[in-house]
Amino acid sequence: MISLEDWPCAAVRNADLAARTTLKVGGTTPLLLEPGDPEELRRAVTWVRERGFEVRILGGGANLIIADGEVPGPVIATDRIRRAFRYVPFELRMDLGGSREEEEADPFVEVQPRQHFPESEPTPRLVAWAGASMPGLVGMSKRLGWSGIEGLAGVPGSIGGGVAMNAGGSWGDLWDAVERVRVIDETGEFKDLLRADCQPSYRNGNLGGAIVAGVVLEFEPSHPRVVDEEVRRYLLHKRQVQPVTEQSAGCVFKNPDPELSGGRSAGQLVDEAGLKGRTRGGAQVSEKHGNFVVNRGGATAADVLALIEEVRQEVASRFGVELATEVKLWGV
Ligand SMILES: Cc1cc2nc3c(=O)[nH]c(=O)nc-3n(C[C@H](O)[C@H](O)[C@H](O)COP(=O)(O)OP(=O)(O)OC[C@H]3O[C@@H](n4cnc5c(N)ncnc54)[C@H](O)[C@@H]3O)c2cc1C
Repeated sequence: MISLEDWPCAAVRNADLAARTTLKVGGTTPLLLEPGDPEELRRAVTWVRERGFEVRILGGGANLIIADGEVPGPVIATDRIRRAFRYVPFELRMDLGGSREEEEADPFVEVQPRQHFPESEPTPRLVAWAGASMPGLVGMSKRLGWSGIEGLAGVPGSIGGGVAMNAGGSWGDLWDAVERVRVIDETGEFKDLLRADCQPSYRNGNLGGAIVAGVVLEFEPSHPRVVDEEVRRYLLHKRQVQPVTEQSAGCVFKNPDPELSGGRSAGQLVDEAGLKGRTRGGAQVSEKHGNFVVNRGGATAADVLALIEEVRQEVASRFGVELATEVKLWGV
């Protein structure tokens, strides 16, 4: 039983988690903490650690399979920490009566500009708190005519989850557009990390367990029409190859080393093994993309996990390739 003295932020008892994932499976948490800003997130993380629980951060739930039943301990949801705003350049802060100390104090705190931004900025930037939605940020960059994250079009989830997972595709990785990340480290303090500090790799932000509180994204100046066209191109491609209208958690498996798989992706291996359409309860290997498991209605986490294990074993016995999961598993 979790004692609720000294609540660090808004919270819900016995919260359903399935509804907060894109696959729509999973059980409950005894306590869902819902911080509203980075400082509350920091306090919530500390609160959870001090009580001896594992820190579980729920972003958009778009790459997560949560077991049926109760997750042992609290879950921290970031969806209320969703501010995203333009980075105010130092010169403009000075015009606004700001000071160098202010600039150095905290770029993650929004300064309300009382004048227009310059017509063109050489390195335009957006500041996003952890729970800001990636589709929302793509929309912002499109309206501003800033290029850099068009490839994220159609990738659901939060920017915090995107950075932790290093979301990406054939176009590149989210981290290519990251200038810096503000994390909550193991001591419970904020720390700013640059790309070189983390060395992110394929679907791994390499944060060493640190929690993302906010991100500064860096763009190339372009034009709204040009960015819009690119976004549409990516969306169209996604609709053609992925089951985007169905409930899923994105790609289940990481692509294996091409040397071991003869250059085939995880989806191709599943396809060649004849596993597309394979069903367990309400869970099915997508007919459209072999690396997606979809919830066709009423699937349980047990259905999904059994199907994933079946696919993994069949691919291993047919091709000698051990597929590793890209999706994160909770309570399994
Ligand atoms: C239809 C569909 C298409 C997709 N297409 C792609 C694609 O093209 N490319 C791709 O890379 N992914 C894709 N995905 C997967 C998913 O969108 C990404 O992995 C996304 O980054 C997940 O973000 P999230 O906020 O939903 O993370 P969650 O699913 O909530 O969490 C995933 C992991 O990140 C951790 N996490 C979340 N927030 C934080 C934080 N603030 N700090 C530290 N850790 C955190 C969680 O604890 C968990 O371990 C797709 C998913 C779907 C459903």
